[in-house]
Amino acid sequence: MQDQDVQPFLIGAEWTRGEGTPFESRNPATGALNGLIGAASAADVDRAVATARAAQAEPAWRDMLPHKRAAILRRLADLIEADAEWLARRQMQENGKRLQECRDQALAGANAYRYFAGICEVMPSEVAPARGNHLSLVVYEPFGVVAAITPWNSPLTLESQKVAAALAAGNAVVLKPSEFTPGPALRVAALALQAGLPPGILNVVTGLGLETGGALVAHPDVRLISFTGGTATGKAIARAAAQRMAAVALELGGKSPHIVFADADLDKALDGVLHGVFSSTGQSCIAGTRLFVERGVYDAFVARLVARTRELKVGLPDDPATQVSPLSSFIHRDKVESMVAMAAEDGGRILAGGTRPADPALAGGAFFLPTIVAGLANDARLCQQEVFGPVLCVLPFDDEADLLRQANGTAFGLAAGIWTASMPRAWRVARALEAGTIWINTYKELSVSVPFGGFKESGSGREKGFYGIRTYQEPKTVMWGLA
Ligand code: NAD
Repeated sequence: MQDQDVQPFLIGAEWTRGEGTPFESRNPATGALNGLIGAASAADVDRAVATARAAQAEPAWRDMLPHKRAAILRRLADLIEADAEWLARRQMQENGKRLQECRDQALAGANAYRYFAGICEVMPSEVAPARGNHLSLVVYEPFGVVAAITPWNSPLTLESQKVAAALAAGNAVVLKPSEFTPGPALRVAALALQAGLPPGILNVVTGLGLETGGALVAHPDVRLISFTGGTATGKAIARAAAQRMAAVALELGGKSPHIVFADADLDKALDGVLHGVFSSTGQSCIAGTRLFVERGVYDAFVARLVARTRELKVGLPDDPATQVSPLSSFIHRDKVESMVAMAAEDGGRILAGGTRPADPALAGGAFFLPTIVAGLANDARLCQQEVFGPVLCVLPFDDEADLLRQANGTAFGLAAGIWTASMPRAWRVARALEAGTIWINTYKELSVSVPFGGFKESGSGREKGFYGIRTYQEPKTVMWGLA
């Protein structure tokens, strides 16, 4: 292995290969090697945090006026937009996501920078009602150094919404992307320097979870850890952060209920259910993976769903006809496969999929057919554990009380969908569901302008929307005596 073949990462203005053992990035659609990526050791992470801390304290960033900070974020958005095709193709090569979705995500990433640039310019401080002879002011300060740790499923959007908000709030960031998808973060960091962001304000350290991510989480100068990923990792991070009272914002896993009442527009509901679970090959934290259908229409609805699922076009991510692309890695495909076997052991009936595709053209990739499993109770392992793949559990329900008991009968609480023609019922059920986002007669609509996050074990804290900026700030009270 030649040293120059290793993709370096960014500390300050310096690109470095790091002291860790480089790791491979592979294309899950073909198994081809994308390249070798430099790994940051604990010493590299320490250097990145020290660089971020020094840069954040510099007047050039600390005292930069909000409209000037916003101008840098807007320039970065323009550069991301101009580079969208490269970014989209790189993400596709790393996680196998459909090219069109990657393109949409690159543009959504650019727009997250624009949105938080706007917020940066209008962020208010407050004059609180005085309860004495003083002026009570509330100002919002940056944390200092923020660690952003991200998963592989949608780096283009997830990283933008974290980094844009953290920078708009005046922090410096050390971003650790997933070891499966380092490319977009490295490219965006290079564009950020080009946009005029002072060196050291955005650093990217690539590497494995425990080694590089663990060092970042344990670092005493990281004051906020903004993490998106699995619930088990999120709990480990929260425990480590508690040792030194570092703040955490956690966007974790899901097992979202998708609910169809008998009075719904069943054609639209069918489209919504298919899109809700099988888009992004089910590798979406908000995927509607537990389908609850009112008993009167259950058999007919599930029969139509199975027929439509079998028709979905599984294929290469850059084929425009593809509806379901590969899983993000071979190791992840094996996990999905073993969870379907587990469901069969527990008495689940596989109504669609359940295997790898037979098409020889797809034999070299990490493919798995969209799968529907019936016959399990809501407390079965497949209905309780996150698969993060194209696997749907279907369950009937009798009435609203039965539905809510089952739908809320999960450790997770990220999202939920309701299909019904009754407005009062939609409102009642929406308020009773324990989840951070509820869709009514639609599913998986996302917007940077509304807060996003989980109830229960799906996380704590919110990203996006106006709340998104407050996640990256600490309120400070200033009491000014007037006596
Ligand atoms: P993961 O938890 O395995 O890894 C996420 C990131 O954490 C990676 O960068 C990884 O290297 C790092 N990491 C792993 N162990 C670590 C440790 N001990 N200390 C510090 N960092 C560590 O998750 P994944 O497999 O990359 O992503 C899939 C998960 O992400 C799913 O559970 C999914 O639901 C969740 N997710 C949640 C959201 C959301 O917004 N709620 C969005 C997308 C994905």
